[in-house]
This record gives sequence, C-alpha cells and structure tokens, in this order.
Amino acid sequence: MSLYCDVALPVPLDRVFTYELGGQEAGVGVRVMVPFGGQRLVGIILGLHDTQPPDDVEVKRVDRVLDEAPLLPDELMELGKWIAAYYCAPLGEVLRGMMPLTAEVRRQWTYRIAEQGRKVLYEGAAKGSSRRSRLSVEDQNREYAVLNYLESGEPAKTATLRSATGANKALLDAMAKKRWLVREPLAEVRDARRVEIVAVLAEDNAEPTEGKRLPKLNDNQLAVMAELAGCGSRELVRELRSRLSARGIPDSSLSTLVKRGLVRLEETAQAFHVTSLGNHGKKFAHEHALNEAQTEALATIVTAMNAGGFKPHLLYGITGSGKTAVYIAAMQRALSANKSALLLVPEIGLTPGTAAQMVAAFGSEVALLHSQLTPDERAEQWHRIRRGEARVVIGTRSAVFAPMPNLGLILVDEEHDSSYKQEETPRYHGRDVAVMRAKLLGCTVVLGSATPSLESWNNAERGRYALVQMLERVQQRPLPKVEMIDMREEFRETGKEQLFSRRLIEETQATLDRNEQVIILLNRRGYSFVVMCRSCGEKLECENCAISLTYHKGGEENSLNGEARVGQRLECHYCGYRRTVPKACPKCQSEHLYYLGAGSQQGEERLQELFPGARIGRMDRDTVRTRGDMERLLGRLHSGEINLLVGTQMIAKGHDIHGVTLVGVVGADFALGLPDFRAAERVFQLLTQVSGRAGRGELPGKVLVQTYQPDHYVNQFAITHNYTGFAAREMYFRRAMRYPPLSVLANVILQGEELEEVLGIATKLGRWLAKNKPEGVRVLGPAPAPNARLKRIYRYHMVLKADRREQLGAALRALLGFVDAEQVPRRAVVVDVDPVHLM
Ligand code: ADP
Ligand code: ZN
Ligand code: ZN
Repeated sequence: MSLYCDVALPVPLDRVFTYELGGQEAGVGVRVMVPFGGQRLVGIILGLHDTQPPDDVEVKRVDRVLDEAPLLPDELMELGKWIAAYYCAPLGEVLRGMMPLTAEVRRQWTYRIAEQGRKVLYEGAAKGSSRRSRLSVEDQNREYAVLNYLESGEPAKTATLRSATGANKALLDAMAKKRWLVREPLAEVRDARRVEIVAVLAEDNAEPTEGKRLPKLNDNQLAVMAELAGCGSRELVRELRSRLSARGIPDSSLSTLVKRGLVRLEETAQAFHVTSLGNHGKKFAHEHALNEAQTEALATIVTAMNAGGFKPHLLYGITGSGKTAVYIAAMQRALSANKSALLLVPEIGLTPGTAAQMVAAFGSEVALLHSQLTPDERAEQWHRIRRGEARVVIGTRSAVFAPMPNLGLILVDEEHDSSYKQEETPRYHGRDVAVMRAKLLGCTVVLGSATPSLESWNNAERGRYALVQMLERVQQRPLPKVEMIDMREEFRETGKEQLFSRRLIEETQATLDRNEQVIILLNRRGYSFVVMCRSCGEKLECENCAISLTYHKGGEENSLNGEARVGQRLECHYCGYRRTVPKACPKCQSEHLYYLGAGSQQGEERLQELFPGARIGRMDRDTVRTRGDMERLLGRLHSGEINLLVGTQMIAKGHDIHGVTLVGVVGADFALGLPDFRAAERVFQLLTQVSGRAGRGELPGKVLVQTYQPDHYVNQFAITHNYTGFAAREMYFRRAMRYPPLSVLANVILQGEELEEVLGIATKLGRWLAKNKPEGVRVLGPAPAPNARLKRIYRYHMVLKADRREQLGAALRALLGFVDAEQVPRRAVVVDVDPVHLM
C-alpha cells in the first residue's frame, strides 16, 4: 500500500498535486475527493509512491477514494494525455471533461425511525394534534406507512420509502423535523443511472406450498397480490401504485405486504426510454436499398473495418447523396462483428430527424448524447455505455469520449462543422480527437461531409486519408440550379436599397403558388445588427464587449414560431447583455439614430408584408432555444403548415425536407469581408449546404444567391457545385500565405480585467518571444484581438505560425514555461492550438 498519490485536479495548472492516502486503498486511474484551497475537488490519481515531499510542502490527506477500479479505460486515459499535451491544457481539466462527475458525488439521504416515531406508531400519540390535522388524510396515512416500514429499525433511502409508501421527500423531511425520523447523509457514490423500484412477489408465495399457512390478508392486500401475480410476479412500483389507486386501494396495502415479506422491493436500473419519433411519412434511411455509390462506399469502410487497424477515411458525398444510410449500414456491420460504433454529429445535427433515424435503426441499443441532457441523464447514459448496454452512441462533440467497450468504428458527420471545436479549456477539436482515438485504438474512422474542411481534404490529397466519394444525389435527383442576382445592378435599376430582389420575390411567389416550400437564409438574427448615430458616427456597443448591439423589435409575435414575448431592446449577441433602446445617442445626444443591416427578424417582417398569404416560420436562436423548439418547427415544415421559412445558418444544417424547391440566400457574402483566413471557406460551405436543402424530394430545386460580388471565386465555384475547384483555388491561397492546412497555428490570447495588466503581460511575452526566437516559428503580434473586449475582459493576442507541428509545440511549451517562471497568472494566458477563429 502506497503512502502518497499524485492527483490531477480540474484547475488551470499544469501539474499534479501530492496527497497522503492515510491507509486508504487506491489505484492509478481512480477518483479521489481531496481538499484544495478551502474546497473539495474530485481528481484522478495518476501515480502512487512513497516519496515524502519536501518538508516545506504541507501534504493534505485524501478525503475519500471514490472508485474501486479506474473509471476510464487505459485507452481513454491515453487519449486524455494526448489532448493535454497537444492542446497545452492541464490534464486534470481534460479528464474532468471526459467523464460525468458532478452528478455522481451528490448527497443522498437515509431515514430511520426515531423514538418519537415509534411512540406515534404504537400509541397514536399525535393523533388529533393540531399539527397533524393540517395534513391531508392521504398524507397522514403515508406518515403511518413510513413509520410502519421503518419499524424494524433498518434505515431506508428516500427512493425506497417513496416507492413503498408514496411519501415524497418533503413529507419525509417534515417527519424528520417533528423528530419522528432521523435523517442521515449516505456517504456513498451512487451509480448514477436512475434507479427504479420493482415490486416482486416473493417466490415461496407465488405457489403456496402445502402446510405453510398464508398470513391473513384483507381484501385490499389480496387484490395487490393478485395484481402482481397477474403481471408475471414483477412490476414497477410506480406502475403498480397507479393501477391500485385507480381501483381505490390504499398505498398502505402494498407496504404491509412488503413488511410481511410477501412482496420484495428491488432496485433496477431504469429502462432506457426512447420516445417514438415519426419520420414525416418518408422512409427511414435504413429502409432504402443502397444504391451503387452507397454500396461502394460501404464496402470500402467495411473492408477497412474487417482488416482492422487504424484506417482514416474522408467520405466526400454531395448534399442528398445519402450519407446517413451509409453511416447506419456501416454501424450495423460493426455490431454484427461484435463491435460498437460511435457517430459524432454537430451541435445542431442531433435533430429529432437524426434521432428518429437512429432509433428506428438501432432501437434500445442506441444512446443519444447531446448538450441538453441533465447531469443525471448524462451520467446515466455514460454508465449504460460503459456497461456495454448501448453499443451505438450518437452524440455531439464530447461524445468522442464515450467509454465504449470494443469500439470498432468512429464516424464524424459534417466533419467541417465548427461546433466540433470546444471554445474553452481544453480547446480540443472533436473531429481531430476522434481521429486520434481511432489511431490509439487501431480502428476505422470516417469523416463525412459535402464540404470537407481543407484540413481533411489536404489529408486526403496527400494519401493520409482514403478518399471515398459519392458524387450524385440518390435516385439521380439533380442538384439544384444555382443563379446569382447581382445586387449592384438591382440597385442601379430600382434606385433603392432593397433587402429582397425583384427576382427573388417573383420566384418565391411562384413557388408558393405551386404549393411548394421556400427557405430564405438571412444569416444574422435580430432586427438590425448595427445601430449608429447619424450625427457623430458612433456605433452602439455592448457595455461588456467591443461588439455592436443588435436591435430586436419586440411584440412581433408570429403564431407559427414561438419566440418568447419580450419587448424591443438592444442585445449583445456575445454576452447576452440587454438594454432599452435609447432615444438619443449616448455620446452626442443627437436623436438621429440609424438602424443598419437586416437580420432574420426583419426578414420575416418584410416577407409577411410581401406575402400576406404565406405561412411563415423563422428559425434562429431567438425562436429555437431547445430541441423541442427545433422539433416543433421542423414538424410544421414537414407537414406543410409552414411554407416559407426564414432563418440563420441553422436552416442550412442537414435538414431533409422534401417539399422545399426554392432556396434564397440574402447577404451571405458580407462574411467574405471578415478578417479571418477561413472566411472564404465558411461562405462556400454555407452556400453549398443551404443550396443542398433544395430539391431533395421528387421535384427539382432552384437556388437564388443575392450578392454584391458575383465574380468572387467563392460565388463562382458555389453556383457550379464545384467543391474540388474551390478547394484547389483555396489551397493555392493558403499555400501562398502559409496558412493551415499548409502550416500550423496557435492563437495565444492574453486577457484580464485591467487593460494595463493585459498590456503588461502582452509586452512581456512579446519581448521574450522576440529575444528567444523559437525555431521555425513566426510570431505575429502581440496586438489587440479583433474582439478586443469580451464580457469585460480585455484581450490581446499573438499568433504563432509554424511549418512543423513539433516546432509549434516546443514554442508553446517554452512560452508557458516562461509564464510559470514569471508567475504570470495562468488564466491570463489562453493557448488555442489549431484555432477555428482568430477572433
Ligand atoms: P445527405 O446527408 O448525404 O445530404 P441524406 O442521408 O439526408 O443525405 O439522404 C437524403 C435522402 O435520401 C433521405 O431522405 C434518405 O432517406 C434518402 N435516401 C437515402 N438512401 C437512399 C436510396 N438508396 N434510395 C433512395 N433514397 C435514399
Ligand atoms: Zn452621436
Ligand atoms: Zn456583450
């Protein structure tokens, strides 16, 4: 038994902390609860030893060892270490993100009967007392049932008591307050799956044996026995109670049977419930016989899987080529080879549609991990997966850490999507971690997209990834015809700045008249995204951020979308800050405030004026806050209740709505001007993805792109659906500028509440880097970050650029070493390796 352990803690420090074990048994990889700076933290043991730390170090004791065996398999520990090293993140913070901790270490209570309680039970001491009479008759009966249940003196957990007696926690606590019960914390780490209690007919009573007399039972108790026998001697207490109460049988009958040993209560893990989700009359993906391209793609993946070993693939399949069906088929093959399969989807990708496809294909074998699970639900899924009960996992970014035994296939859908990048420590990229996990495990990984990231495309071109292509839509459906509308010409001809061109209006009307559906992309939410003073030119900015406030018009409630009714306001889309709309310019008091730039809310209003008969819906983060909102909105689209949908890039993501034949794109090329080397790539992806929503059903589709830069290569390649042409052109630019994927980057952000302090740190680090030039690395900056202030934090940044990954890593490690040595607070220095934004 070792004396000490080294623990990784979820704190922003790149080191382990040594604790005394004090005779407790523990192994590497298990969780411990330890004191740290006045609080209790859960960490992971990384090493055990007997080396006494130096005398001047005060060594504290581990409070509690939480696990008997390591929670993370070796493979995931390895992956965690790789992430910590690659992304320059503290291992403790990485590991915390890899497992559900919060839900686990929660307190539970047990109850025992107290002397006073016994008295009440036997003497009815409190009967008629004023306190008791305030309770309903049912609650009074429940109190007796609780006392009755606990009478033997054995303590019971809240859940058990609730099942046995119907008493809820409030009632139990009230009884503890009256000193009828003793309440005690249960010092155990619970298995976080939610438990349910089942009532089981004790075996020896199922068939009464000769000579053994059944205790005398009243009619109600007999009825309970009969009910239980009628459902195979076993039933969820929850179910049983509701059936009994419907027949007027009191809760106490069951409790009495339990007390007499005729019925046993057992805990079981709650069954996994998946609500049945419809597919809007379409066939589910797995019900189609695969076409030739799909069959070929599947064969390539399956061959790699059967051969075993690390084998990365890029599946380049155009929109509507039927990638989902290939994913499902590949996962089915993994299952029949006795392996498990993981599918990562972007944040918004886990829509009800996808969920429905997966549940239809895999039933209760599937676990869905998305951002809206409660900590409890997440933990429950985590344990199911670890026990091997869910061999198919579909989830967003952090699902890449799902503890799946025998993982044989990892799929990353829409691999170009930026939601795979975590924008807080550890700043990992889910796609890249997926590839690394596959490498550590030696398994097949497939990255799929209609618009692959240039990183993945480059890997495919260099032969590092096998390229699998699906270049046609299913059933030979044509890709939509894309046309540009030159908005400069439109202005010349009409003499007015218009949100929607005459052509788009005409085509929309015609489409609606034909009873088909239209989608219009307006990639900003709110009403106007700039509020400016005409007199002094001041732009109204957030108090906390150097970001323009967006004007939201209130009271614009539309019956087809569910935006909460909030008044008009200015809102910061970064930090959520809200203020009322000022009457005058805060700087010069002029009353001439000017609202610029139309967002989706304004788009909706204009469309309502233009098409009074249209059934308009809006999809943006104001109208879609939860998965439920998304589900409802998509349901209305599928049913045709909405025939004109306006929204932000959310509308471009993977939705498969067969009635849409026209897509309009408004103001998307604005993003071409953003100061980011990926601006062109993003606009191309958006145009391609949103175009991909048109013509997915029987009828062919059409796309109209309004633009001020019709000659821009992004537009030129987008209208001909020419991804490879675009990629070649863009790669040329990246090579010339030495940008990723033809170099590697890290963004080092220097931040703090005081501008002085931030400037000080920036100067210090900048000077040090200039003096200690890291080999093979170019340093740009320090300079104010494009978002110079966010949430009251001032931000400077430096961009480090290198040809080789090792050189970049070495430079960052040296820099962080200097940061430590100089005692610059670690939270003031954020390292973002492979940043997706340089903002
Ligand atoms: P992608 O993700 O490649 O854009 P989807 O996977 O959403 O495409 O598939 C597009 C549509 O084609 C879906 O409605 C799907 O059910 C259908 N589909 C898939 N495979 C076939 C097939 N072999 N034959 C006919 N329809 C198919
Ligand atoms: Zn002004
Ligand atoms: Zn703000």
